[in-house]
Amino acid sequence: MNQKVALHTLGCKLNFSETSTIGKQFKEHGFSIVSLDDNPDVFVINTCTVTENAERECRQIVRRVLRKNPHAYIVVTGCYAQLRPESISKIDGVDLVLGSNEKFNMFSYMESLQKNELACIFVSPTDELNQFGIASSSDADSRTRAYFKIQDGCDYKCSFCTIPQARGLSRSLESQQVVSQFKDILAQEYKEIILTGVNVGDYGKSLDKNLFSLLKELIVVEGDYRLRISSIEPNLLSDDIINLTKEHPRLTKHFHIPLQSGSEKILKLMQRRYTKEFYADLIYKIKQVIPDAGIGVDVIVGFPGESENDFVETYNFLKELPISYLHVFTYSERPNTKAVTMADSVPVNIRKDRNNMLRILSEKKKFEFYKSLIGNQVEVLFENENDAGFMKGFTSNYVRVKSDFKGEYINKFTTFEICDCDNSFAYGKIIGQK
Ligand code: SF4
Repeated sequence: MNQKVALHTLGCKLNFSETSTIGKQFKEHGFSIVSLDDNPDVFVINTCTVTENAERECRQIVRRVLRKNPHAYIVVTGCYAQLRPESISKIDGVDLVLGSNEKFNMFSYMESLQKNELACIFVSPTDELNQFGIASSSDADSRTRAYFKIQDGCDYKCSFCTIPQARGLSRSLESQQVVSQFKDILAQEYKEIILTGVNVGDYGKSLDKNLFSLLKELIVVEGDYRLRISSIEPNLLSDDIINLTKEHPRLTKHFHIPLQSGSEKILKLMQRRYTKEFYADLIYKIKQVIPDAGIGVDVIVGFPGESENDFVETYNFLKELPISYLHVFTYSERPNTKAVTMADSVPVNIRKDRNNMLRILSEKKKFEFYKSLIGNQVEVLFENENDAGFMKGFTSNYVRVKSDFKGEYINKFTTFEICDCDNSFAYGKIIGQK
């Protein structure tokens, strides 16, 4: 009988795409992929370091698996395993801890699937993290979106971030390999490909390439698709990329650009690589070139030293900018970062209040953006799910659209007229297929 593996991912889309690659490797070794409740022989947890309670989450999942299946062989890998292998190995029931270099080579470390008294640890030092591990994954059961990893690691030194320690220096997939993998993904009939990585804008640094040159190579590949950049640092979003996005319908008119703080003082403490003036100029430039561009912003509240005035400065800065939505994160202390040693820690209740304020601002921003598009014809890619008679999809500029379910429009580029909106969806009428 086939052996069974269950996989569990914590964290970002990059982690999901890497878990998907790990799953493919198990399939090649004759395993079936099953759910946690289906008595897996092996259980793999791909951990995250951004999650505030990574270790607690990991412990809870391991307990849940062992309650159902005490004989399951448990492997823990990913960013948290790389950073805290000893703590992970002490969780009762964990058999194998694999770091970032080792995660795509699991079968070299799983000699037998006998449970161990003590967990084995295989973790390379941070300065030796150089493996890439080609990875792509998709959303649920539809062929609508595929996340495609083109870059890993980061050379930046943001003072709050442990990702460079967990994933090593910036490295990229060779462009020929990107193009060939990209064609494979298109052959599986995915319609939207999201270029993913730790610092995607840094693509090609060591290859005499850059993201702009890669995009030019990708958009000439034949097919019915569109291409989205998951997120890009402000200092890496070049005029060339903005102009190419304006000109080329295959590139989505959407940028997700981390800001993190609208206070110059806090940006410096965070060791970010731009000023608020630079950021504002970039946003206005994008809107000048592509007036209907959707712009998402990451922001962290409660960073050490963020006074009431600093927060108000951030709030007002974001309120004035023509952006479409925010992803708000509450600062939480991470061991071995510069930020954790900084003075003037912000009380947790104040961090939460600031988070709430920015979330409300985000809802307003989204509503204003959606409202500005009423009367426009847009192109929507509807997803497979029938949600109580409705289907949902995204436009190129990242507007969430909801409409009566009509199977013939699923996973097809559909022209849609926006007639109304709230702060969750835009509504309107289908004009027809592209
Ligand atoms: S750019 Fe900064 S926040 Fe992003 S992964 Fe690199 S160090 Fe971390």
